[in-house]
Amino acid sequence: MFERIKRIFIRMKHFFLVSWTLFYSSFAWSQIDAYWQQHIDYKMDIEVNTKDFTYDGNQVITYQNNSPNTLHKVYFHLYWNAFQPNSMMDQKLVTSGNDGDTKIMQNKGTKENPKWVSEISLLDPKDYGKQEIISLTQKGKPLQYQIEGTILEVELAQPILPNTSSQFEMKWKTFIPPVLRRGGKNNTEEVDFSMTQWYPKMAEYDYDGWHADEYIGKEFHGVFGNFDVKITIDPDYVVGAGGEIQNPNEVNGYGGKPKKKQTYHFITKNIHDFAWVADKDFVVEVQQPKIGPKTYYVYNKEKYGTYWKEVKPYVAKFWELMNRTFGEYQYPTYSILQGGDGGMEYGACTLIMGKHDSLEDLASLIFHEAGHSWFQHIIATDENTEAWLDEGLTTYAQDLCDDVLFNKRQNNPFGRAYGAYLNAHSRGKVEPMSTLADHFKTKLGYSIGAYFKAEVFFSQLGYIIGEENLQKTLKEYFNTWKLKHPTSRDLKHIAQEVSGMNLRWYFNQFVTTTDIIDYKIKEVKAIGDKTQVTLENLGGIAMPIDFYTIDQTGKPQIFYIPLKLLRGEKPNDYPNLDRKVLPDWGWTQKEYIFTIDQPLSNFKTFVIDASTRLADVNYDNNIYENK
Ligand SMILES: [Zn+2]
Repeated sequence: MFERIKRIFIRMKHFFLVSWTLFYSSFAWSQIDAYWQQHIDYKMDIEVNTKDFTYDGNQVITYQNNSPNTLHKVYFHLYWNAFQPNSMMDQKLVTSGNDGDTKIMQNKGTKENPKWVSEISLLDPKDYGKQEIISLTQKGKPLQYQIEGTILEVELAQPILPNTSSQFEMKWKTFIPPVLRRGGKNNTEEVDFSMTQWYPKMAEYDYDGWHADEYIGKEFHGVFGNFDVKITIDPDYVVGAGGEIQNPNEVNGYGGKPKKKQTYHFITKNIHDFAWVADKDFVVEVQQPKIGPKTYYVYNKEKYGTYWKEVKPYVAKFWELMNRTFGEYQYPTYSILQGGDGGMEYGACTLIMGKHDSLEDLASLIFHEAGHSWFQHIIATDENTEAWLDEGLTTYAQDLCDDVLFNKRQNNPFGRAYGAYLNAHSRGKVEPMSTLADHFKTKLGYSIGAYFKAEVFFSQLGYIIGEENLQKTLKEYFNTWKLKHPTSRDLKHIAQEVSGMNLRWYFNQFVTTTDIIDYKIKEVKAIGDKTQVTLENLGGIAMPIDFYTIDQTGKPQIFYIPLKLLRGEKPNDYPNLDRKVLPDWGWTQKEYIFTIDQPLSNFKTFVIDASTRLADVNYDNNIYENK
């Protein structure tokens, strides 16, 4: 009897072991797979002192910890502390020298022999940006904290357990720096207040940990939540903001005629930032397009009225095109605000300059900055860690809008990005797109890695998986990840699911290396009444090949050579052209030979990728003329 139970027990134990292992492994998976994100509600009262360019702030924060981890600390960004000599932003400018961000530098040399100097190092002490914490409590209990540069590190009095929330109250005072980068007082067009990254802002905590990144110059990340903001300011000011005005009849610009200090009340929901501007010379104009959000224009109309008026129909069409192409804009309003130092995206608004050289310049800038609403605010990727994801897609959308809305009908609407990338490549200035935004060695390296090579990445993804699959991928990416924080891995996952192709190599090689693509038509020769073609891969990244022949009558035909790595074939992007699919080309093979069943004399031209979507560094050897 005993022996029998023992045997059964042993069998059962074996069974338990197996099932526990199964349970354990599925548990581990769900830890990785289950997406969560934090939530925050800000309730702010801001009192602006227009005489000395300071403001006093009070915020009550409700922070919901949706993570599976207990938090013992939280971090806030105090961005404007960067505008003090010897801040990390200043140090980076000093060490970068002539390769630094010239937006925050002055040339103390000559045009031929420049010597760029950090403007932060030249600041007068009365202009230092400073964010001073006056008091900070958690559920009424004072908190221990320390400020290191632009980061406020807070020891919690009470840890925040998973799936619980906590309340903070903070009083602070801000000394507003001049606009050296993005926000501050008195920009070059004399806008008094450009209030961006202007409040103590909770750092994001996610699967990758705390994003308590120092403000060194590059862009942002944030916690999704709701903003309820009251701004009290002198009665002769007009305030514009990324949010809905709650009391239009009490405030200047929206219908009110205040006699003494006025309080603007804005609310914006399910967003990860809030920005505003204020000036005495502003007007507020409202546009309600057929499709898209109620759009506010807050600017100096007297000076810049012409293009700002002419741009409105383009903005109306922009919402329609973007909604149709990428997914629906998620907020009730959008504000185009004059301020800052060029153009920068914020929650439900942008700050741009008033002056523009042409209508198209202004429109294109708005397409870009408002395009970020899709790629940074709604699909909220981290601009510090993967700048290429939002800038690349935004620049892609911008060029698409430029092409369609200005009716340009270019062969490749993304051509300028290829030009910029290839030019930087020829100068040895390309750095991996995956470089952390602040860590690019040069300004050009950043602009290529984050913007242009990244835009090429998306255009070229269309070449690899087919345009229809690319459009499906981007829509699916939007629908799956709107109002969340995806990473490039999530995009890769969707692109693979949609196309049925393996794209791991592309997301690795084109993103994390500076390897190049260079294909060549090595030889075309007659073999009897047939034509033999030899192609050669001279580059480091292998690609599928669209090989075009053009016969003596001008009729094109495509020979498609899939890359073995893909484990799949793209649909024909040009259904009106005859396409023949050839056997796969493995990346380990440098040459590929195939035969066309027609005499060489039938053909006029042979081309590798006539669509110019392949980022081939040398197109000269992609063409063979049969003379
Ligand atoms: Zn951008």
